[in-house]
Amino acid sequence: MDLSSDIIYLKGVGPQRAMLLQRELQIATCADLLEYFPFRYVDRSHLIDLAHVDFNDPYVVLRGVIRNIQEVATGKRTSRLTAQFYDSTGEADLIWFQGIKWVRERIKPGVEYLLMGRPTLYNNRIQFAHPDIEPFAITESDNHHAFMPVYSTTEKLKAQGLNSKGISRIIDNLLRQEIVIKETLPPYLIQKYNIMPRAVAIRAIHFPRTMDEMQQAMLRLKYEELFFMQLDHQYSRVSRLMSGSGRKFATVGDRFNRFYKEKIPFEMTGAQKRVIREIWSDMRSGHQMNRLLQGDVGSGKTLVALQTMLLAIDNGFQTCLMAPTEILAQQHYATFSRMLEGMGLTIELLIGSVPAPQKRSIKKRLAAGEIDILIGTHALIEDSVKFKNLGYVVIDEQHRFGVEQRARLWTKSDVPPHILVMTATPIPRTLAMTLYSDLDCSVIDEMPPGRQPVKTIHATDASRLRVFGFMRQQIAEGRQVYVVYPLINESEDLDIKDLMDGYESMSRAFPQPDYQISILHGRMTPDAKAFEMQSFKNGRTNIMVSTTVIEVGVDVPNATVMVIENAERFGLSQLHQLRGRVGRGGGASYCILMTKDKLTTTGKQRIETMCSTTDGFQIAEADLKLRGPGDIEGREQSGMLELKLADIVNDEPIVKAARDDVRHILENDPQLRAPDNMLLRRHLEKQKARIELSQIS
Ligand code: ADP
Ligand code: MG
Repeated sequence: MDLSSDIIYLKGVGPQRAMLLQRELQIATCADLLEYFPFRYVDRSHLIDLAHVDFNDPYVVLRGVIRNIQEVATGKRTSRLTAQFYDSTGEADLIWFQGIKWVRERIKPGVEYLLMGRPTLYNNRIQFAHPDIEPFAITESDNHHAFMPVYSTTEKLKAQGLNSKGISRIIDNLLRQEIVIKETLPPYLIQKYNIMPRAVAIRAIHFPRTMDEMQQAMLRLKYEELFFMQLDHQYSRVSRLMSGSGRKFATVGDRFNRFYKEKIPFEMTGAQKRVIREIWSDMRSGHQMNRLLQGDVGSGKTLVALQTMLLAIDNGFQTCLMAPTEILAQQHYATFSRMLEGMGLTIELLIGSVPAPQKRSIKKRLAAGEIDILIGTHALIEDSVKFKNLGYVVIDEQHRFGVEQRARLWTKSDVPPHILVMTATPIPRTLAMTLYSDLDCSVIDEMPPGRQPVKTIHATDASRLRVFGFMRQQIAEGRQVYVVYPLINESEDLDIKDLMDGYESMSRAFPQPDYQISILHGRMTPDAKAFEMQSFKNGRTNIMVSTTVIEVGVDVPNATVMVIENAERFGLSQLHQLRGRVGRGGGASYCILMTKDKLTTTGKQRIETMCSTTDGFQIAEADLKLRGPGDIEGREQSGMLELKLADIVNDEPIVKAARDDVRHILENDPQLRAPDNMLLRRHLEKQKARIELSQIS
């Protein structure tokens, strides 16, 4: 038996469990099983008693006895199992809805158990639903793990005897076999940090004898995880730069100069100029550019995109700009057309709602090289969209695009085009370090002059009339107001109903003809959306009531008030995005966060963060801490971050060490040819084979 063997052959597994392990936990081989790490440990010498149960603790461990085991039928084929658990200080109710037969066979009255799970309060009594239960008695074989590993598992696995203890048992079985756990890190790194060899660490993480041993093992495995993630990313960046396959834009031409000198109505900020220079330096290097441009909402990224697109055009290439929504694409199209007027450039808009004949004509002219700038949505990635000579791609608000969608754009040209990914969602440093180490990074860290920080206020229903009064006052001064409702996703119909209710109450508080109100939501046709957006933009309406469709990039400088309803339901970065819609040059601006009276602890922290800072990076750091990296802006962005052990918030020093080590190694040995780096080379080859395989299937 070796590590690549199917777990079906492992003692204590068999076909049924093997199938479930694969389906529920993606564990197929012995290696997978060894890398299924405990998520915590129980130190049996540190138990609490029922009198001291803390309901904020998601996981407590108790020692006690069970009585009153009862199965109650709840339907024809369903039942539930209840029991009582007690120790010398109190009593708790236990309840199971699934796997009842299995639990019944295993719990006996009068025997001492370890009970583990999340305590809740139900009918004023402590309750545990589906707790994990182990006999307390320490058996012979348990001796070497007084520190008990706890694995996460599922109801289906539990029903097959694979609760945490069951998983621990099969891992133990595997480790008792003569298996070889190979080292993956080069010897000089192991020496440098004096870290545990892999074989030792794997044993120790499952069955540590001491706390210290567990921490050593953890450190080694976290470092390894982050190191290889860095290696994959940085290696692909280095090989891109070394391959020298990129369009070379040799000249700065007329369009660039003319636009810069004559068309821009204001002075570019120092940061904008610097970023343009950074991009230009990539473009003429002969290497393909792959750059991330970060800049807070309103920092002027669009202008940087436009100016650098002119560089590509001056060098004889076509360019495209991809936006995440039709509204945004339309807005960019309008801005570009207006700003580039009279410069003899052909700009087209390709979005889903463009009529078919027009689409066909655009595609034809695109392939013939008659279009300089194509602006659009996902529609740009379709196979039927072919460029004659695409040289530069700008992707706006990247977090809405998956990595794969980005990659599809590259294939639109035989030589890969330069790519600029722009995002207004500030990315915390550690996350950027882990997630984007394959991209080069530019930051616009300076706002255009004259911006005033948006004043942010927290309000509840009790002060709604005052909020309305404030809105009237602003409107009387000629300003405009956004009122945004959350999209909760559970049911779009319910969301729209919330929005409609809100619209109605707004219409009563702000009646015609004195006030005009626009409404915008995802269910409207693109034409209707564009019409409402335009009315607001032109100032024909005073208030825009909408769902979060306006979240990204909409630009109406005269809007000075952003009212966010049910603000507690939004994530921090979303609130920040929304707030960025105001304070765009129209004078003093305000963001009013409406919430219900009672907030959860995190809800309160979010609102407080928003009221205390407008710095996007601070907000992003706070967001990461409050939500954890798994949650950042949906799975697309965090999908690459499937870290098993490391936690980029708390393990920042390890992230840094791994990044610097990889950088240093690749600087000295970019092809990884040195004998000491053989293991790394092998890792990359395996990785490459895996990627190729996944592309075929
Ligand atoms: P974002 O970075 O959010 O995409 P935009 O590019 O939409 O920001 O710019 C926001 C607003 O600021 C626009 O109205 C734009 O014309 C204006 N703007 C951009 N750069 C400058 C500048 N250097 N000085 C003054 N206004 C600017
Ligand atoms: Mg923008």
